[in-house]
Amino acid sequence: MPRRGAIGKGTGMHKGIGVAGIAGRMGRLVAEEAQAAGAKVTGGIDRAGAETPPGVAVLHDMAALAALSDVVVEFTHASSVQAHARAIAGTSCAWVLGTTGLSAEDEAAVAEAARHVAVVHAPNFSPGVNLVIALAEKMAAALPADAYDAEIVEMHHRQKVDAPSGTALGMGRAVAKGRGVNLADVTESGRDGHTGARKTGAIGFAALRGGQVVGEHTLIFAAGTEHIELTHRAFDRRAFATGAVRAALWVAGRKPGLYSMMDVLGMA
Ligand code: NAD
Repeated sequence: MPRRGAIGKGTGMHKGIGVAGIAGRMGRLVAEEAQAAGAKVTGGIDRAGAETPPGVAVLHDMAALAALSDVVVEFTHASSVQAHARAIAGTSCAWVLGTTGLSAEDEAAVAEAARHVAVVHAPNFSPGVNLVIALAEKMAAALPADAYDAEIVEMHHRQKVDAPSGTALGMGRAVAKGRGVNLADVTESGRDGHTGARKTGAIGFAALRGGQVVGEHTLIFAAGTEHIELTHRAFDRRAFATGAVRAALWVAGRKPGLYSMMDVLGMA
C-alpha cells in the first residue's frame, strides 16, 4: 500500500489538482497551497468574467476541469453543487468539496456522486476544528442533556452568505450524535421576539456577522452549577486551504465513497 500524502510515483496523484472557484478567497489560496505542497495545479473554473489569478489555465466547465485532474478542490457557492456533482460523477476524478450552505437536495447530489467517485466533503478543513468536533461528541455523550444546555455561537466576516456556518452545524451534529438524537429535531436557531422558554435538550445556534473575522466558534455547555466552553478561532483562511490540499493528496486514487476530514486526519 503506497503511503498517501506523498506526491509522485506510487501515489494517487498523477495529473494534479483542479480548483473550482479559482477567483475566490479560498480558491486562490488552494492553488497557492497546492503548488507549495509540490502538486501541479491543472487549471481552474469560475463564473464568467471573474478575475482569475495569473498563471492558472481557466477551463470551460467542471467536466473539462475534472478530465484534466486527479482531484478537483471546490469552494464556490451552494447553487453550483448539484450541477458539479452530476458532472464529476461521470469522470474518474475525486472531489474535495468545501462549499457550505448546502440544502438536503444538494447533500443528496453529493452522496450520489460519491457512489461513482471518491468525495471528501467537510464544512471545515482545519485540523483544530475537527478535533473540537470530535471532543464535542464525547462531551455531549458524557454531560446529561437535561442538565447541560448546549449553545453554539459563531462569528464570521460580513461577506458570508449562509448562517449558521457549516462548521457550527457540524458541531451541532456532533453534539446531537453524542446525545443519540437528530439535530433537526432539537435545533433552536435565530431566536427573536417572544420565543418561550428554552426547550430541554435543545441545541441552540447564534450567528454574528461583521468585519473580516475568518471564523470563530464556541460551543457552550451551560448547567446551573458550571459552564464549559470550547472555542476555536481561525486567524487565517490558509488553515482551511492547507487542510483541503491535504485532503486532496489523501483522496487521489481512493475508491468511490463519501469521506470526511476525520477520515483524512485518521480520527474517524
Ligand atoms: P468567495 O465568494 O470569495 O469565492 C467563491 C468563488 O466561487 C467566487 O470566485 C465565485 O465567482 C465562484 N463561483 C460561484 N459559483 C460558481 C460556479 N458555478 N462555478 C465556478 N465558480 C463559481 O467565497 P469563499 O470565501 O472562497 O468561500 C466559498 C465557499 O467555501 C463558501 O460556501 C464558504 O462558506 C466555504 N468555506 C468553507 C471552508 C471549509 O473549510 N470547508 C472554509 C472557508 C470557506
